[in-house]
Amino acid sequence: MKFNTKTIHGNQKPDAAYGSVMQPIYQTSTYAQQSPGDHKGYAYSRSANPTRHALEQSLASIENGAFGMAFASGMAAIDAVMKLLKPGDEVITTNDIYGGSFRLFTKVYEGYGITFHFVDMSDIKNIETQITNNTKMIWMESPTNPMMNIFDIQAVAKLANQNNILLAVDNTFATPYLQNPLDLGAHIVMHSATKYLGGHSDLVMGALIVNEKTLAERLYFIQNASGAICGPQDAFLALRGIKTLHVRMERHCHNGRAIAHYLKNHSKVEKVYWPGFEDHPSHHIAKRQMKDFGGMLSFSTYGDSTEDALKVIKNLKIFTLAESLGGVESLAGHPATMTHAAIPKKDRLKIGLTDSLIRLSVGIEDVDDLIEDLEQALE
Ligand SMILES: *Cc1c(COP(=O)(O)O)cnc(C)c1O
Repeated sequence: MKFNTKTIHGNQKPDAAYGSVMQPIYQTSTYAQQSPGDHKGYAYSRSANPTRHALEQSLASIENGAFGMAFASGMAAIDAVMKLLKPGDEVITTNDIYGGSFRLFTKVYEGYGITFHFVDMSDIKNIETQITNNTKMIWMESPTNPMMNIFDIQAVAKLANQNNILLAVDNTFATPYLQNPLDLGAHIVMHSATKYLGGHSDLVMGALIVNEKTLAERLYFIQNASGAICGPQDAFLALRGIKTLHVRMERHCHNGRAIAHYLKNHSKVEKVYWPGFEDHPSHHIAKRQMKDFGGMLSFSTYGDSTEDALKVIKNLKIFTLAESLGGVESLAGHPATMTHAAIPKKDRLKIGLTDSLIRLSVGIEDVDDLIEDLEQALE
């Protein structure tokens, strides 16, 4: 089955009870049993719920995995992965990682005796030199937020497998439409389904997808033991969102490409970060591991001025100033004061994150309107 069919039919069957084509919302905490333990596969909704189960099956299908798990948020999904570790274990991760992951790693899990090494993954040697006998996991993102760096998932997977290290990939930005980390050798794929999978800015949810049965069993155990599951209503919305993922992504990519080129030729724009440009430092990797280049991009105006960036953002009429990404509507954000405010300025500048940087989540509106909006705002 091809991807554009999997989003709609992958691992999905009409509901067994009445043939309902859309998965019903099983808004229940518990299930009647004939005698203790004799039930229809569902005993209690923390452990399993039919609506969530249908979603988890869909998630597995679209990421080419065998097992899917849905969580209350992207952070809850990452938290479940971190619970695979023990005090003394070490993790190697991306230096321009999602701010919430950085916070969870440094403010929660370092307190439990786990060490995190933040490295520039554009050079595989930077990972190699950090590997010790205690290295149990590599956690990576590609493309990264908001600098749109691209790292070679296949090369990192090879290194991880040679050293018996788990590789987990946060695939939120790329989505399974653009890239499938399990196919590239990763062991765990994570999504903030809040973003492109849900796609309509109406839910908060996380997902994990894996291939290996023993790993799946450990994660299912954690999901049930810790209990950070998503509710059936949100599972329904995510299932509904996934059904149009491929059509939405086509338009996100189309609009993203047009806006990236428009901004690149604008006299007031200093730099545009978008992996589709041939002069992007890792364009060749993006071309190989992604199907297209997505709808996320960042750009900076001349000078390192928060004031200038905010002026542009405030003038935008169609792009909404907001956190988050991946919805049908276009959003603009100012990483230095919003998503990345917790990172000291000197560390931000090291990765090129200036005060004038603006991040766009390009939606699926008419691209002419979006360009006109940027034109008047930059003016
Ligand atoms: C949003 C996001 C997360 C966290 O997901 P939530 O659903 O907000 O908890 C993790 N990684 C990336 C790349 C994200 O964009």
